[in-house]
Amino acid sequence: MSGKLQASVTVVINSIAQAKKAAGIRVYNLSAGEPKMMTPQVVRDAANEFIQQGDIPYPSPAGLNELRKTAADRMNKLYGSSFTQDECIITTGGKMAIYLLLQYLCGLNSPLKANPNDKIGVMIQAPFWVSYPSITKIMDGKPVIINTSEAGGWKLTPEMLKAAYTPDCKVLMLNNGVNPTGIIYTRSEMQALLAMAVELDLLVISDEVYSTLVYTDDEYVSCGSFPEYKKHVVVIQSASKAFAMTGWRVGFLFAAPEIIDVMSALSTQSTTGVCLIAQHGALAAFKHADEINQWVNETMKRRRDIFVDAFRKYFGIQLESPKATLYVFTSLASLGVTGMSDDEFCIRALEEANVASVPGSGFGQPGYVRFSYGADEDDLDGGLENLAKFVKSLTK
Ligand code: GLU
Repeated sequence: MSGKLQASVTVVINSIAQAKKAAGIRVYNLSAGEPKMMTPQVVRDAANEFIQQGDIPYPSPAGLNELRKTAADRMNKLYGSSFTQDECIITTGGKMAIYLLLQYLCGLNSPLKANPNDKIGVMIQAPFWVSYPSITKIMDGKPVIINTSEAGGWKLTPEMLKAAYTPDCKVLMLNNGVNPTGIIYTRSEMQALLAMAVELDLLVISDEVYSTLVYTDDEYVSCGSFPEYKKHVVVIQSASKAFAMTGWRVGFLFAAPEIIDVMSALSTQSTTGVCLIAQHGALAAFKHADEINQWVNETMKRRRDIFVDAFRKYFGIQLESPKATLYVFTSLASLGVTGMSDDEFCIRALEEANVASVPGSGFGQPGYVRFSYGADEDDLDGGLENLAKFVKSLTK
């Protein structure tokens, strides 16, 4: 693909792994970040019931009011925010929420542009989720990447933010827990980042889709939980990870009503709104949210532990257990691999060992690899066993 348009590397690798599997090949798919679990029965039942009553019209562009209210109430209950129904829109997954928002903020009619030719700077910490800079570029914005380091715990600090700032920067993209590094920010760290963002007059987009996948007693801190910064913050949420509903494509964006109105208008010109069958499924999920969140969290925690143990068994190293998300992000050097790029490593691991993983370059961190332990349980130990054999064959 040419120019600015770049396919998502996570989605591309996952598709290759799925195609191999469909062709009957035993693939260990540690690529896409999804909790590989059955969607809860209550969700499927509610969707079936809605289908059976037969009246399935166009959705309303902002989503079912009941779902908007329920999603806002859940955010407020879990994270101490104060969102109302009018401050929530339902989107086709969290990705579409970011896509529409960046279209508004960086696109032709951006309220942030003094001149039509201005490029809006979007500040993004690296390693980043693959789609943040790509969507920014698709929308004619300018990604401003701020590198963090493993030695610094992969954390972005206010000082780093200030140092990277240029006057064209208008937006800060935050992600907590962070894909791909698995870290979370403390309340005081988040408070300091938000204070600096406001000082620099940045609108903060906070991607919080992993908020229910935290495996320690650490508090999960939502950017929506600071009343003093509410008007500077947009929060992205999703049913995908919280409720094991990746394929249903239901996401949520929380922001001031003026932003919701624009998102809604963009929705009328793009998707028209989210499939009503999926919205009814999500509504049912919220009715059983505590139980489902707990079930997904416990299952993912168990898989994380299996994966970390298998890592020690096959590679002889004790990984630090990630506190959150679905990912282990580690250097090629830690695997004992030298003289090879991460792209080449991941391609060859998929071709020669049938293990799918994602190269760090896609996340802005060459020399690293991301593994998802959200994978089927059978793929975790077996995948690392195969990978270790593959790595051994490289050094022969
Ligand atoms: N967000 C997940 C990941 O990072 C799902 C795939 C995608 O949309 O990027 O793997």
